[in-house]
Order: sequence, then structure tokens, then C-alpha cells
Amino acid sequence: MTESAREPELMQKIVSLCKRRGFVFQSSEIYGGLKSAYDYGPMGVELKRNLMSEWWTFMVTSREDVVGMESSIIMHPDVWRASGHVGNFNDPLVDCLVCQERFRADKAPKVQPGTATPITLADKARAKLAEDKVKALLLAADATGQAVDTIKRDGTTIVGTAAKEREYVCPNCGSPFLSKERNFNGMFRSSLGPTDPMASVIEVLRQGVAEGKTDEELRALADQVMNRSAVFLRPETAQGMFVQFQNVQQSLSIKVPFGIAQMGKSFRNEITVEHFIFRSCEFEQMEMEFFCEPGTGPKWLEYWKEQRRLWWEGLGLKKEKLRFRAHGEDELAHYSDGCFDVEYEFPWGFDELEGIASRTDYDLNAHMIGSKKKLHYFDPEADDPETGKKGYRYVPHVVEPAAGATRGVLAVLCDAYAEELDEQGELSRVVLRLHPRLAPYKVAVLPLVKKDEQLVERARAITEQFLRAGIAAKYDEQHTIGKRYAKHDEIGTPYCLTIDAETLSDTTVTIRFRDDKRQERIPVQRAVEIVAEALRTGRL
Ligand code: ATP
Repeated sequence: MTESAREPELMQKIVSLCKRRGFVFQSSEIYGGLKSAYDYGPMGVELKRNLMSEWWTFMVTSREDVVGMESSIIMHPDVWRASGHVGNFNDPLVDCLVCQERFRADKAPKVQPGTATPITLADKARAKLAEDKVKALLLAADATGQAVDTIKRDGTTIVGTAAKEREYVCPNCGSPFLSKERNFNGMFRSSLGPTDPMASVIEVLRQGVAEGKTDEELRALADQVMNRSAVFLRPETAQGMFVQFQNVQQSLSIKVPFGIAQMGKSFRNEITVEHFIFRSCEFEQMEMEFFCEPGTGPKWLEYWKEQRRLWWEGLGLKKEKLRFRAHGEDELAHYSDGCFDVEYEFPWGFDELEGIASRTDYDLNAHMIGSKKKLHYFDPEADDPETGKKGYRYVPHVVEPAAGATRGVLAVLCDAYAEELDEQGELSRVVLRLHPRLAPYKVAVLPLVKKDEQLVERARAITEQFLRAGIAAKYDEQHTIGKRYAKHDEIGTPYCLTIDAETLSDTTVTIRFRDDKRQERIPVQRAVEIVAEALRTGRL
């Protein structure tokens, strides 16, 4: 099965629209495509940049207590040792013994032991092979406590198996026949400078140290050698802000509480890439570390939770499709004193869009240990709670709202996508009801007839007028007017202006509103005002 064939129908439609209209393409498509990497086309890059610029304005430039920065993607490898990523950024990797799918145990569908686990393959031929494999597995070892003769095949589904000890099944076929879980580090490793880590590994192996060692011991040995020259692509943007905390604070003499924000690329060698751009190996994040006084983390967590809700809702995401899920005790990192996931209801169900965590002083402490540098903050005006004297030196605590930008693009696309039916129940149009500030074009200017030079000239002049006002406008003369409306509905252009003979005589145009297809005759000058107003208020 291809990735997209597994998706709910709505997702398939969104993926297809993204390609058809130039939002997102499969990376390296002409070479067969690179799984898990995507390219943003002309519409997609505008949408993504608009979303990220909205975040930057909301989180940084419209506030006095948050500043921005951009750290490098490749940082000193000790950053990742101190932060725990080298040792602990592991996902539990499992192979399905029936369909060979490789997946993350913690993201797999949950089942109660004893529950029936039907195994479904894409077609009958594969199901037949799978049936034989299931029987062979049962004969080899009684992995699920099932007798071979209870196994039956009904078309593409094999029934008769039940979950035994594992509390999850394969996300692809539903099989409970799984390999052992093994740790898989999600960081991309490379080496800096003209070193050849493989040469070092070969040199060590030539010394005869491989003799009698298990695969795991050999792997650990090779890792040790390779890690001497290893650097990592950052798996999150956050660490750049922790390690520059002091430089930022001192260069601006900024007082705690304050935040440092950054947007940019992150890289994770994900075991399972899923749902189009929802989970990819190269993606973009929008993160902010808010440094505050010890003891005030929970208060700021509540504050940022509310701010983030306002932001997502302000971009038009439907309230009923957004929810906050508090992490339970078992999910919470040992150092954290509170964490919420902002979840959006994607076509496959609610899933994480952003994490908002109170991280106490864990990160700065970790870097103080790793770097042996002091990362304290001194507040001369506050009283030290221990001594009661003026002047308080402490390691700030941190609250972190960490959102996915590329995942945000998908949420926005899913939320905006709508199909309208005509009176006969047939599909009449597809429309992306994007927030005007997110829309790639804010207005399309359409000469009614492209062969009429006067209309073309007038339409181009009006387009210029918008562009000079800083409003992304698109002059568009191809195809019939109906097709042009349909195209701009699909890319989410909030307004279309149709330039006809009347425009030449009385300088009025027809403005068409994307969401309800309403058309009004207005003076050209009003059109600029209407579009500018929609950008300000977010309403069409
Ligand atoms: P998940 O549980 O989905 O793997 P996470 O909890 O590991 O995500 P964080 O480390 O909290 O994610 O990263 C913050 C945000 O970055 C996530 O909420 C998500 O929006 C985004 N993100 C994380 N991993 C990916 C990815 N592989 N592809 C796209 N976005 C991602």
C-alpha cells in the first residue's frame, strides 16, 4: 500500500489538492520521491511563511518580554550529550513479523490482551502469504497462545489471532506478531570537517577487538569510535536558546521573566513517517523558552496555554477541533511539573500540534553540568527566599510552548478545506477557507476577456496598486472566468476582482467573496480598503 492509500479519504483529497495547486510536492519526485521529505511549492511556501510570520509577530514583535534569535543547526556535540539527546532521544523500534512494517511501539494502536486481532492486508495475494506466515509463526512458537487451526482467511483479512502480552499491534496490518522492541536514536549523525569516521572504525576492528563480541557490543564499539568526530543535526530548536541564555540576557540586560523565541528547521530520523507533512524527518518548529523565577512555572504554564489557544483560534482553527490534553503522571518527564499537548482533530483523529511544558530548571542545570559554566540569573531587587536579604541569585525555570510549523500548515489546510454540494448533492466546488493573512494571494485581479487590451491594461494597473500597498495580488487571465474563480477558491484567495467594460467607463469592479461567492459592484478604491480591512480583522 502506498502511504497516501492508507490515509482517510479527506487526507487523500488534501494531499492531491496540495500537489495540483502547488502547495506541497513529494521531495525528488522525478527520482521516485524521497519518503518523508517534502518540498513546498509556490502556494505552500507563502502559506508556511505567513503562518510562521504570524507566530513571530504574536510571540515576539508584539510583546516586550520575548526576544528572538537564530541558532545554528549543527551545534557542539556536547550540547546534545548534556541535554540527554545522545543517550535518551530514543524511540522504541519494532518490526511486524507478518507485513515487515517498521514502526514506533509507543505510537501503535493499543489493544487489550485477549482481544481479537484481525490482520488485514492490501490484497488477496498478500493476505495468502500472510496467512502462511501466521501459521508458520504459530507453529514455530506459541507467540499468542493461538492454535493454528483457528486461523482462517476471509478475503484480505486473517482472523483467529488474539493479542497476548503486547498491548499494541502493527499499525499497518493489525498483526500481534512483533519483533522485540529496540532503542533507535532519532538524531541524524554526520561528521564535521575532513574526517572519515568509517576509517577510524576499520582501524579499531583491525586491532582484532571484534572477536567474540555480540552484535550489540560491536555496535556500541563502533558508536564510540564514530561519536568522536560526530555532530548532529538538531532534533529541536530549543537547545540553541538554552545554551545562549546568558548571552541573550546579558547583551540586552533583559530582566527575568522573559522569553527567547526561534523558528527553524529540525531533523529527526523518524521510524514511521506518517500522514503527509504531519510527521516528516525534516520539518520546521516554532519554539519559545520563557525563563521565570523558581516557583512561578505553573503560573506561566497556564498563561502560555491561554496565549497559544488564542493564537491558534485567532488563525481561524475551529474551536471544537482544538483541545488541550494534560499529560498524565506516567507521561510527564521526571523533571517537568506540568505539560499540555495542544491537539487538533486531523482527518485520522486528535493528534499533537504543539506541546506546552513547564520544564523547571532542568535544561539550564543540564548545561551547567555539561559546560561547567554558571548560567544563573541575579536579581538585585528581589529578596532571597532563603536568607531574606536583598539580591536573589537563581537558575531560572522554563516554560516552553513548542509548536510544529509544518504540522501547523497541515492543520490549517485540513481546517480550511471544504467541499460544497449543489442542489442535486453533486460536488459544486472545493474551497480553502484560509484566514486572509494566511492565504498565499489576498486578491486575484481578473480581466473578463484576455484579448481586450484595455481590460488587460486596467487589470494590470489595479494589480500594481495592490502590490504597491504591500498586498499579495495575482493578475490572472488564463481560462474562463468560472475556472479562474474555481482555482482561486482552491488556493484560498479571499477576493477576486473582475475587470469588465464598465470598469473602464465608471471605475467600478465586481468583487467576489470567496466564502459565500457573493458578488458586489464597488469602486476600485473600495476594493483596496476591503482587502486591507480583511487582513487587519481576519474577517471577509
Ligand atoms: P510526537 O509525539 O508527535 O513525535 P513530540 O512530542 O516528540 O511529537 P516535540 O518534541 O514536543 O514533539 O516537538 C514540538 C512540536 O514539533 C510537536 O508538537 C510537533 O508539532 C512538531 N514535530 C515534532 N516532530 C515532528 C516531525 N517529525 N514532523 C513534523 N513536526 C514535528
